Amino acid sequence: MSDGLRQGTLRIPAFYRPEYAPAEVPLLARLDTTARRIEQLGLVDLHAPAPIDPERLAGLHDETYLRDFISGREPMASRQGIAWSTRVRDATLAMLGGQLAGAEAAQRHGIAMNIARGFHHAVPACGSGYCPLNGLALLAHVAPDRRVMVIDCDEHGGNGTEEFAARLPNLFNVSIFGTRFGCRGGTRSWASLVRVRDHGFQRYLDVLQEAETLVDTHRPDLLVYQAGADCHVDDPKSQVGLTTHQMFMRDLTVFRMARMRGIPLLFVVAGGYQQAQRVARLNANTVRAARHVWLTVTPGTSADPKAGAGTSTDGNAAS
Ligand SMILES: [Zn+2]
Repeated sequence: MSDGLRQGTLRIPAFYRPEYAPAEVPLLARLDTTARRIEQLGLVDLHAPAPIDPERLAGLHDETYLRDFISGREPMASRQGIAWSTRVRDATLAMLGGQLAGAEAAQRHGIAMNIARGFHHAVPACGSGYCPLNGLALLAHVAPDRRVMVIDCDEHGGNGTEEFAARLPNLFNVSIFGTRFGCRGGTRSWASLVRVRDHGFQRYLDVLQEAETLVDTHRPDLLVYQAGADCHVDDPKSQVGLTTHQMFMRDLTVFRMARMRGIPLLFVVAGGYQQAQRVARLNANTVRAARHVWLTVTPGTSADPKAGAGTSTDGNAAS
C-alpha cells in the first residue's frame, strides 16, 4: 500500500515537503526537525503533497488580500507578521496542499497527519498572527457538503477559524487555549480558556469531554485536530501549562474521540516555541498517541479513558 496505514507497522500517513520549512524562517524551519525526527523513529510514512492551486483559494479570503499575498504586494503580503518572500508564499501553498491531501488520506484510511501549521489566526479579510492563509477553514471551504469540526488545542485561541465558522455553515470550531487571542465563541464556535495551574488538569479533560458531546451533536464527517505544542509547561508562551504526560493524555483523548466513532481525523502540529528538538519530541509523542489509539481502540466500542496512560512517551521534553 503506497499511502495507507500499514497495519503491521502502523505508520501514520504524513504529508510534508521541504518547501514547508524555509531555513530563513525559524517558525517554519522547525517543521523540518519534526519531520525528520518522526520519520527516523519509524512513526510515519512521509508523502510529498502537490502545492495547492491558488484558484482553489478563491472565496476563502478577501480577493484583494489573496492577490496581494500570491503576488507579494506589500503591505498586505507581510500583514500576518512573517516577511513575505516567494519561499514563504510557496511554503504556505505547499502546506495547504498538504491539508487537502491529508484530508483525502484521512477519509481513505481513518487518520493522517500534515506536518504543518493550521494557520488558525488567519481571518477572512487577511492573514494575521504569523498565519497567512487559514488551512483549517480551507477544508470546509473546498467541500461545502462535508461537515468539518476543528478541535484546536493550541496555546492560542483559534480566532481566525472562529470567524470562518460564522460564515461557513459546514465548519465547527472548538478551541481550548490559555491565551484567548480574540477567540470568544460564537456561531458554530466554542471557546474555553483553561490554565492548568489555576483550574487543574481535570478541568482540561472536562472541556475535552464537552468537545466530545459537540462531536455527537454535530456529527462531523471530518475532524481536524490542531495539536499545539506551545501549551507545554516549558514553552515560553504557555499559559495552559500541560506537562509532557498531560499533553499525551490530551492527544489520546482527542484521537479516541475520532477512532471510537469511526470519524476520519487529520492532525497538524501547530505552535511550539521551545528549542526545535524539544518541540519535535512533543510532536513525536502526539504521533505515538495516534498510533496507540489506532492499535488499541476498535471503532464502535467505548474505551477505558485511562487506557494508554502508561504508554511510553519521549519524556526528554519534560522539565
Ligand atoms: Zn499558538
